[in-house]
Amino acid sequence: MKRSNLIWVALLMLGACTKKSPEFLITKWEKKAPASEHFLLRKLASSQNQCMRDVFTVETLKGEVRELERRFTRERPVSGRWRHIDLSTLPIAQANFLKSFGRELGDLTNPEAFDFTSCSDVPCVFNKIYGKGDDVHGYVHYIWYLKFGNLLAADNKVPEQRSTSAGQYNGKAIPFANYLFDEKELYAFWRLSHMLKTPHTTLRYLTQIQRIPRGELFEGANAGACGLAYSNGFITLTDACLTFDGYSQDKGWIYQAITHELSHQVDMEEGRGSASGFRSNRQDYVSLSGLYITEYVDSEGKPQRGWQVGAGAKIVSDYAKTNPVENFAESVAVFRVEGNRAKRGLGDEHYSFVSRSYYQNREFTSPALMASWIQESSGEISQSVLNAIVECAQPGANGRSQYFRRGDFAVMVPSNVVACISDRASQISVELRAKVVMRTAEGCDTFAIGGERDSWNSLVKEHLKTAFERHLQQGQQDSQYTKRLQEFLGDINDPTLARTAYLSCYQAANESSCYSEELRKRTLERLQALSLPEIETQELLQMYITAHPYQTVRDDTVKLYQTFVQQNLERIRSSARETWNSCLSISHSDTAPPTGRVFTVGDGYLISSFFNCLNVAVPEAVANTIRSLSVDGSRVENSAEEKLLTAEVRPQFMRILRELYDAAKAAEIQTATQHLQQDQGETRRKLLADLSWVKNFVDARQILTDCKVQGYKVIGMTLLYNLPATVFGGFLEREACHNITSADQFGAWLDSSQVQLRERATASLDGLMLDYGRRLADECLQEFPNTNVINRLLYRRSREACFMNRWPNAESRMITETLSNPVIQRLNLSRGAIQSRLAQNRSALQQRIISEKLR
Ligand SMILES: [Zn+2]
Repeated sequence: MKRSNLIWVALLMLGACTKKSPEFLITKWEKKAPASEHFLLRKLASSQNQCMRDVFTVETLKGEVRELERRFTRERPVSGRWRHIDLSTLPIAQANFLKSFGRELGDLTNPEAFDFTSCSDVPCVFNKIYGKGDDVHGYVHYIWYLKFGNLLAADNKVPEQRSTSAGQYNGKAIPFANYLFDEKELYAFWRLSHMLKTPHTTLRYLTQIQRIPRGELFEGANAGACGLAYSNGFITLTDACLTFDGYSQDKGWIYQAITHELSHQVDMEEGRGSASGFRSNRQDYVSLSGLYITEYVDSEGKPQRGWQVGAGAKIVSDYAKTNPVENFAESVAVFRVEGNRAKRGLGDEHYSFVSRSYYQNREFTSPALMASWIQESSGEISQSVLNAIVECAQPGANGRSQYFRRGDFAVMVPSNVVACISDRASQISVELRAKVVMRTAEGCDTFAIGGERDSWNSLVKEHLKTAFERHLQQGQQDSQYTKRLQEFLGDINDPTLARTAYLSCYQAANESSCYSEELRKRTLERLQALSLPEIETQELLQMYITAHPYQTVRDDTVKLYQTFVQQNLERIRSSARETWNSCLSISHSDTAPPTGRVFTVGDGYLISSFFNCLNVAVPEAVANTIRSLSVDGSRVENSAEEKLLTAEVRPQFMRILRELYDAAKAAEIQTATQHLQQDQGETRRKLLADLSWVKNFVDARQILTDCKVQGYKVIGMTLLYNLPATVFGGFLEREACHNITSADQFGAWLDSSQVQLRERATASLDGLMLDYGRRLADECLQEFPNTNVINRLLYRRSREACFMNRWPNAESRMITETLSNPVIQRLNLSRGAIQSRLAQNRSALQQRIISEKLR
């Protein structure tokens, strides 16, 4: 008993050892590869205090475009063209944009007003409209589309304008430039694109936002409004909605006004289908708004309806007193752009309704914003704190800052450690602040206010104190604590774990969520080996996950394999060449139909034996090539890695085969051309020497066709990469077969066997008449079509009558033409003989064509 137990244990252990998943070739290679091959670590934010408005640059916007476009990479590619641009060559989002809005760009009175020929992307198209080079203008328009899905218009037609012509507004011609936003206005749109999320960014019915020409009021009855929101998908804005407070680009009516109009759209989407068309007219909102309706008879005896403010009700602005619809738009807009004012100006229930329903429970008061900024950076802060803890535990660590004092912490900490931690903490707070002012819409202005700045500093200090203290306490309880932290931190930017997680999910049904799950599982396994307290384990787990987001790992992994494949291109090339040569060496014919789609030549020709050979050989050859790749003697073992490599190697393999094909094709044409240059009439002589290939005498086109077919045989070259017609067709038409019926040998041949040939010629008249009859049928079909059930029955009689009535005419045309044919003349075939032959087969031919075409 005991003995067998022991064996059982040994077996189990063996099992545990072999369970280890096969190692990836790419991991080995990456460690060997020169540093420049490694993926770039993301650069940390600069520590200069740059506000969002200071980084409103092409570089920033380009980076945003790249990030946003990645969201669309999984969509189906778009086909078609926009002017000179082939949409399939663009990122999918740009192609979608041009497909949806390509006809609403620029001067609609004159499509040639702007020269887009040098553009190959959407920002460039907008920049041309603005008369700019690579400038922020074009990027803002495109980013607006990427984030909101609608068009920030740059054209000269206002939706719903009175004139049917573009460029006309308020009854006059308007210069194109007056329709364009200026740079400051575009900055505001960009800033708003950072402030707003769903539902403002996911409006399904809004299609475009249009500027009313600078200096103009709205047409007609709306002249007093600054902006309008239409339920059929438009927002229009005049100068009055686009104003700034003199001293700041980050402040002004523009932010509230645009959010107000977008909020009308939200209101209308939620109210779609209801009687009033607005969500805000439902009783629950009316109650929240603090408004109530009164109906009374005025001094002139007319009944009136009006909205009143309830006693003690809080209303966010005077305009919000107008009615529930305006109250809604005002409340939702002020809530976002002036959080402190909304907190004061809205009733508690109303305030939390707006927060819950339209802002994912967020708030935008200064304290709420500050808390969210810390929250958003908590991952990065944790990592910095951990690094600091590890560094400050090294012997000799010290510092000069007095950010913390010993008394700040509840645990006893040596003063040099406090000084070191202080240095790091003060650096963290400086970096955090730099990040907040640069990346958040409100950061700069909030910190400009002394009181707010003080609250921020103490908030950050408190957060850092708590974070540091927790680690210091752990360190006091466990002397190995920092050592183990260090071990994991050293690996935090090592992508191996993430890469393994990605590869194990490669091409899984839901790659992204599979990756998240795998990464969590694998990282946790690794962390549990460190036996840290649960809270640190979770913190480090989060940190590793944050450092390796799915899209980045996916892109970096693919890039890594691409680089690896590039480095092994010579091997792929020689393998492709071997495959090509082995298929070249078989004996070739074009009898089998071409099968396979692995290797194709597009519009080109490849003899089917060669084509089929390659299609059978290529998958095997690609697989063998991949199996032959090695790093330090190791080869591919993992199936996901093999798939990824196949995805990279196969196109390279095809490209090389295609190059070989193109070269061989060109060489073949050259050989054939040389051959023809030495022909000296030889082919024509051979064709005339034996005329048994002539099957038909009456149809000159058929004679030429037969002559060419015979010509290919006479020339006697087997073409692998070109159709005989492409290479020899012209030569035969122009030279060897040219006017062959008028050659002396041809005439002599006709004379020598007149009787026999006359019989064959007579027989071939049927085929010729069939052609004439079919053309006649087509004529009648034009006049009396049979394209649907109704006209098929309706015109049937007329169609057949047309055909029968015109038949004699067709016959006589055919006879005249035949008699003018020199071959027929030489054979002395008479009109009478032709007529009697046609009479003999007439009704059979007619019936055949009628049932074939006219029923
Ligand atoms: Zn309004």
